[in-house]
Amino acid sequence: SSAQLVDFDYYYFVVQWPGSYCDLQKACCYPLTGKPAANFSIHGLWPEFLDGTWPQDCDTSQTFDLEQVRDLVPELNKYWGTLTCPSSDSTKFWKHEWEKHGTCTGLTQHEFFSKTLALMKSINLGAALEKANIVPSDTATYNVTQVQSALACAIEEHTPGVECNIAKSGNNQLYQVYVCVDKDGTTLIPCPAYPNGRCNATVYWPTF
Ligand code: 5GP
Ligand code: 5GP
Ligand code: 5GP
Repeated sequence: SSAQLVDFDYYYFVVQWPGSYCDLQKACCYPLTGKPAANFSIHGLWPEFLDGTWPQDCDTSQTFDLEQVRDLVPELNKYWGTLTCPSSDSTKFWKHEWEKHGTCTGLTQHEFFSKTLALMKSINLGAALEKANIVPSDTATYNVTQVQSALACAIEEHTPGVECNIAKSGNNQLYQVYVCVDKDGTTLIPCPAYPNGRCNATVYWPTF
């Protein structure tokens, strides 16, 4: 089966804050490998078009094959764990991300997962926030533009996209960060477009 060539323009490298995923109406569950670290974790590496649309499910013949990424599993568990219920190993999440987004990249499965892990390991978003005295808290609120400026310090001063969700309490809280990456899958770039992230001017960053 030949790799499908999709002429996407850039990537969103998307990470999630587990404290905000787990604070929604629907419950979260920790992966079988245990409670994840109190740090951002990988959601995915998504090919994007400049107009704000994106390709998905580009090659249904390339089903996820855990054997092709067997050597990466310890790091996938560490950085790319699932938070959906019931608790499971995270292979359904990896399968979903590969089949929906990965098959549009032109990369092999091994390249797709190893490039995404390399991005994760090279970027410490939590440390950048803490350096700016932005710490997880169930009471503090933060100016969202200050959050984005602090995050930019971790990604070569490029302002990332931010997405918020609504906690049970009603708080608007930082849920995901969108880092823009060149289609080489490695080079950080200024974001050509931002997702509609539903963040208020002031946001919570809850504990996990
Ligand atoms: P929205 O109304 O926020 O633009 O999109 C709602 C849902 O429609 C998204 O979560 C997504 O599932 C789907 N969607 C919107 N735009 C696109 C697109 O460009 N490509 C694809 N594949 N799905 C889209
Ligand atoms: P997306 O289509 O946004 O790339 O992926 C979201 C899908 O991955 C959802 O169907 C969701 O159920 C599944 N999923 C599994 N584990 C997780 C997780 O830890 N976080 C998120 N956001 N989605 C997950
Ligand atoms: P929008 O920015 O269109 O209002 O919302 C996009 C929603 O679709 C986000 O919540 C995002 O989590 C989801 N989504 C799932 N897959 C993709 C993707 O490949 N690209 C983008 N931009 N959003 C996606």
